[in-house]
Amino acid sequence: MGDRPVILWLRQDLRLADHPALAAAVATGRPVVPVYLLDDDSPGRWRPGGASRWWLGTSLPRLAASLERLGSRLIVRRGPADAVMPQIAEEVGASAIHVTRMIEPWAADVDRTLKASLAGSGIELKRFGGAHLFEPETILSQSGAPFRVYSAFARAAMAAPTPRRPVGAPSRLSAPQRWPESLDMASLGLLPCHPDWAGGLREAWSPGEAGASDRLSAFLGGPVARYRADRDRPDLMGTSRLSPHLHFGEISPHMCWHAARNRAASGEEGGSGVDKFCSELLWREFSAYLLHHWPNLPEVPFRPEFEDFPWQSDPEVLAAWQKGLTGYPVVDAGMRELWQTGYMHNRVRMIAASFLVKDLLVPWQAGQSWFWDTLVDADLANNAASWQWVAGSGADAAPYFRIFNPVKQGRTFDPEGTYVRRFVPELAKLPAEHIHAPFEAPPSVLEQAGVRLGQTYPAPIVAHPAARRRALEAFAAIRIKA
Ligand code: FAD
Repeated sequence: MGDRPVILWLRQDLRLADHPALAAAVATGRPVVPVYLLDDDSPGRWRPGGASRWWLGTSLPRLAASLERLGSRLIVRRGPADAVMPQIAEEVGASAIHVTRMIEPWAADVDRTLKASLAGSGIELKRFGGAHLFEPETILSQSGAPFRVYSAFARAAMAAPTPRRPVGAPSRLSAPQRWPESLDMASLGLLPCHPDWAGGLREAWSPGEAGASDRLSAFLGGPVARYRADRDRPDLMGTSRLSPHLHFGEISPHMCWHAARNRAASGEEGGSGVDKFCSELLWREFSAYLLHHWPNLPEVPFRPEFEDFPWQSDPEVLAAWQKGLTGYPVVDAGMRELWQTGYMHNRVRMIAASFLVKDLLVPWQAGQSWFWDTLVDADLANNAASWQWVAGSGADAAPYFRIFNPVKQGRTFDPEGTYVRRFVPELAKLPAEHIHAPFEAPPSVLEQAGVRLGQTYPAPIVAHPAARRRALEAFAAIRIKA
């Protein structure tokens, strides 16, 4: 009885440090059986997309190797938890299943059905925090309602008890007498074989707990000092690039929060950057909070009047945007950065998303789906909340009538055109003053740079001033109805 193991069910918490569900399993003194289930059924259309599968396929073997160093293993299976987990629990004679709470609505459903299917078995499903700094039920307005506005949410969060300090990884895990069967990692089919499209991702990222920790150290060792100024510049490495690591739980937000705060407290330059970085971590909290309180955020507009918005769904227009062939260099650079590296700088995400929903009038859900498949940091809460924010339909959204001019945005945030040159090489020889608007450049300049509009690089898919007017008219139509 005394050595009935505890199953540690790993999901988006692929780390050993600062892991409350793991720490509690170790504290029982019982053997621990770490399990990962690849469940492509329960999430429905929100099953991991292509880039996320690559990340998982790279991160899971690294986690397995870390577990082996502690005398343990990673058991891998396929299928929905309510079907598979009771079987594993029976195989090993488990006393409990420990899991980190996920905010995704489908995951909450899975937990409920698993709990029901364990009823009467004597096996307890214990859920722990750890994915977020604040549990969404704990931050409410005085009337007990959830906040709809970031600033009020952030104020309340800052007035709440400080996020707990992180704890270290265990030094050893006790093994069960008999390990359950595990699938071979390769049989999950997570990594692309033919064609292998993931070369750019491999170059850009190091999935896993060690990669996450290196990113945080590198950021706090340098760029954080200039984060406030540089975070909007896609031509500089001014941000942390922790988002995929945070999404997959390879590092906890508590570790990021306290490491940043410690750096500010050490008196080194960068306190203002640390404050800004922490406020971005709070945006992540706010997105999760919105998804918890409004579970259909990825599907329907937060502001219901947007149900009637006269979107235009032209597949060719969507394809041009996806491929980075709109004729607006900063948009195209962003879309190609996304395709090549699984990432897009935040400023460019805003510009490219605004261009899709406002200049092209394509529904935000189509952009959200593309990002879901191609981003290594694809995150249901952050993606849905951000798309709705850009579209103007979200909580606390950017007003619809504020429409980014992609040329001005490019000139402001990529002043030398370095970012465009990197991802749109056919424009590389254009001088900085023309690189964000090749369609306005004199023919001699284009010729000298080897650019033939409509041949080597597309002419603009829409004229921005006319597209802007069309978007405002569409918006006026729904405002009248609202
Ligand atoms: P940093 O600037 O270093 O910020 C630190 C951390 O704070 C990030 O890792 C992230 O976890 C969080 N964060 C920063 N900005 C935001 C934000 N605006 N909203 C929520 N959290 C934030 N982020 C995702 O993680 N997954 C997504 O699927 C996603 N989709 C987006 C879609 C659109 C249309 C837009 C405009 C933004 C989206 N974002 C998404 C938010 C943001 O672009 C990324 O979190 C950020 O670019 C990640 O880079 P970083 O880690 O270097 O960020």
